[in-house]
Amino acid sequence: MNQIHDLLQKYWGYTTFRPYQEAIIRSILAGRDLLVCLPTGGGKSLCFQLPALCKPGITLVVTPLIALMKDQVEQLVRRGIQAEAIFSGMSSAELERRLDNCIYGPVKLLYVSPERLQTDLFKLRAARMNITTLVVDEAHCISQWGYDFRPSYLEIAHFKSTIPKANAVALTATATKAVKLDIQERLQLHNPQLFAQTFYRSNLVYWVRKTDQKEAQLIKALQQCTRGSAIVYVNTRKRTQTIAALLTQKGISATFYHAGLSMADRLHKQAQWIQNERRVMVSTAAFGMGIDKPDVALVIHLDLPSSLEAYCQEAGRAGRDNAAAYALLFYDLQDIALLKQRWKESYPTIEQVKKIYQQLVNYYKIAIGSHALATYDFDFQDFKKNMGLHAKEAYYGLKVLESEGLIQLNEAYYQPSKLFLLLDRKELYDFQLRNPSFDLVIKGILRLYGGELFVSYCTIAEKKVAQLIQLGEAMVGEQLHALHRLKVVEYLPQKSNPQITFLTPRYHATALPLSTDKIEQKNEAARKQIASVIHYITNQRLCRLTLLLEYFDEPPLVCHACDCCKQNAAQNRPQQEVEKEWKAYLMDVLSKGSQDLKTILLAVRPEQEQDVLTTIRHLLETGEIYYITSGRLQLRTVSETI
Ligand code: ADP
Ligand code: MG
Repeated sequence: MNQIHDLLQKYWGYTTFRPYQEAIIRSILAGRDLLVCLPTGGGKSLCFQLPALCKPGITLVVTPLIALMKDQVEQLVRRGIQAEAIFSGMSSAELERRLDNCIYGPVKLLYVSPERLQTDLFKLRAARMNITTLVVDEAHCISQWGYDFRPSYLEIAHFKSTIPKANAVALTATATKAVKLDIQERLQLHNPQLFAQTFYRSNLVYWVRKTDQKEAQLIKALQQCTRGSAIVYVNTRKRTQTIAALLTQKGISATFYHAGLSMADRLHKQAQWIQNERRVMVSTAAFGMGIDKPDVALVIHLDLPSSLEAYCQEAGRAGRDNAAAYALLFYDLQDIALLKQRWKESYPTIEQVKKIYQQLVNYYKIAIGSHALATYDFDFQDFKKNMGLHAKEAYYGLKVLESEGLIQLNEAYYQPSKLFLLLDRKELYDFQLRNPSFDLVIKGILRLYGGELFVSYCTIAEKKVAQLIQLGEAMVGEQLHALHRLKVVEYLPQKSNPQITFLTPRYHATALPLSTDKIEQKNEAARKQIASVIHYITNQRLCRLTLLLEYFDEPPLVCHACDCCKQNAAQNRPQQEVEKEWKAYLMDVLSKGSQDLKTILLAVRPEQEQDVLTTIRHLLETGEIYYITSGRLQLRTVSETI
């Protein structure tokens, strides 16, 4: 009857479309440009995959993560749909084969990374493909206002101009007004049709708690909510590991994930969690994009997210199955300070940028007016040390200078040497005993990079190792290569020397042509994002959902379920009634044995503490409870009162 319904049934085995899918598909088939904002898990992929089957030619899909790309192509191929992906790390023969397949073969969907669009080989071959639709997935990556800006996305518009007949489809999960406008402008979407669904889910409850016992709260939450699995977000790689270890020690099944793990490790840990061999995934923000696990009942943030966009994306991974789910966030005052500090470090002021430039030309002793395009070897560590700069200050300052077109840093600068230990501690020790000639180098890397090397790829500087163990730098490199061949380590050496090129004649730092407005706007946008996060967490009055909806310019709703709503409801109740309930609760707790005040308070919400304390005071006054010598509270039994 209806071609698109038939295809849905035939290839996907689904009987009905999800909200918006059909309208989006029809719009794509009509050849329009589209901007689609549907929540994560809303089924965005199908929206462009299905029309690709009906249209002549090929649909080109730009997507940021190789893992996502592979996953989608595998799924398509399993469904019997002709799809290919090309990414870095492929042999050139394989690359050519796949590209040819897209020109002469029956391929309907080709997945590429944005970087790939810029390569000459790709441009040449793409010109011979019949590309009828250009899809930009995770389109928020194009916006500097977004939380996941990727400069390579900016090049997509240029590529798009080379295929004027194709229509363009941009998809993203959460987008504020500013990001939506940015996507539309930067991709040069032509009179796009907008499809936007709220991220609102009636089954997801937001909860924020200020506490100086975040870890205890985490354990409590995981023990109380026994349904489904959970994701815990933290901000550092190291913390994913320590928190997972803590949970395991408390008898809660957990694993961890971050971008420093090897691909095999990441896939393994992810699979363990998806197949419910592990209940809790402790992760950095690296985990979750493209993950579709329906029974996630809890998403807990143990550190602050850097924007509400990121927060909603991450929190929105809970409750896909429409059963009750919670997005919890625990924070302390230090977290707020840290968030502000991180912003300060990552977004240098104009003055700071000028200072870094001045130091750079001092470092290389470049005279004013000296000619452009001079290239020098660049040792970041040495530069920073010599100039008395903090690492982040220098790093982000250089990034601004680069984005302003004043300098260029080569690939080696961004891809320093990496090292990963393949043996565990005992095996390594045995190896050292049997191979004393490697002893020094192994000790050196362990001294400098420590236990991290056993769990993830670490960035290393051969020079530092050489200095520490008093060996030539080249010799260190040779030994690491040898250890690699012996399968003791995985060593990915830097391809060449890091270098810096000055693209303009030297300026006087005060006269540096910086796009001041743009830089300041960007800094301000990031500051606003952080301010929104702080406002969201410190607010105790407004419904959390209302706040989030307002932030995303959606019509406000009150959830009646978040901590603020509950607190508001509680405040409207007569005090007597409140105390009566707390009395029953406390009597019940103490009937199981004496308890210290701190533990009692830990079990209740912060906004309830005052009521609990008042009730306890009254119970002490009436003598129904009393302090025993250990300082714990105890119930007075009937015999004692007589
Ligand atoms: P998004 O990209 O929006 O985050 P995905 O495209 O990854 O979401 O889809 C999420 C899940 O929903 C996938 O498992 C997909 O197969 C499933 N899905 C998509 N459309 C439908 C549908 N019409 N009926 C049932 N399941 C669907
Ligand atoms: Mg998707």
